[in-house]
Amino acid sequence: MSSALLKIEQMLHDWSTASLSNIFVSKPSISTDLELLAFKWSNNIDKLRILHWFDSWYIIPSSNSFITPAVWLQMYQLQQWISFDEFVAWLKSCWLVCPLNSCTCPSGLKYYICKHSIGLAMLLNKYEVNGKTHLQLLGKRRGKGTSKRVRTALLS
Ligand SMILES: [Zn+2]
Repeated sequence: MSSALLKIEQMLHDWSTASLSNIFVSKPSISTDLELLAFKWSNNIDKLRILHWFDSWYIIPSSNSFITPAVWLQMYQLQQWISFDEFVAWLKSCWLVCPLNSCTCPSGLKYYICKHSIGLAMLLNKYEVNGKTHLQLLGKRRGKGTSKRVRTALLS
């Protein structure tokens, strides 16, 4: 009996000290790949199609959107879908995004982070890419720019 209690005491001690050395994470980390995806998304999105709903909530069109965010919001408020298929089509047409916090896209719902959430934060100047990602972006730009300049120099 006492050996069992000693074991339990040891387990409790290990558990409580482990929680001190392992930092509690409340937000998922943002990888360089995700930053690059977010940067690409923020450059390609038609800014006029981003609808600011209220506070820090925005509605953005998905890649297979057939309605505007304004119509999407109207349908959301009316909540009168004729069929389930129509509801699913509406659901996948736009995403509800709160920069750096939430997005209703499949990736956002599964991993609590996605290119929309970060990309929108980039557009709103609420997020800056880290140094490593910045270097990759500069490298890509410089690569393209240099080849154009070289071509121009050769033609002139
Ligand atoms: Zn998303």
